[in-house]
Amino acid sequence: MSGTGTAKSGFLTAEHGPFRCSNCTFWRSPVGCVQKDVVADPEVPKIQAPNGVVMGKAHTDDCCSYFTTLKSIIDKTLEEVGL
Ligand code: SF4
Repeated sequence: MSGTGTAKSGFLTAEHGPFRCSNCTFWRSPVGCVQKDVVADPEVPKIQAPNGVVMGKAHTDDCCSYFTTLKSIIDKTLEEVGL
């Protein structure tokens, strides 16, 4: 999504989608993102979890340049070990 979304993290809200934050390993239900560049992005609204952790406010159908699925992590790990 280079060239779209916010300058720092490429964050985009659902109306530009379809996207799927809720399929990303950085997403925390119900509306949180813990990816460090999203959290540090001045254009992304923030929410605070009950334990005090500040997160980016990301709804289920938002997205950004750091979208990472569990499958992509597994595939990369398998590739790194030659499987
Ligand atoms: S796609 Fe981006 S904004 Fe959404 S949860 Fe993943 S890292 Fe956060």
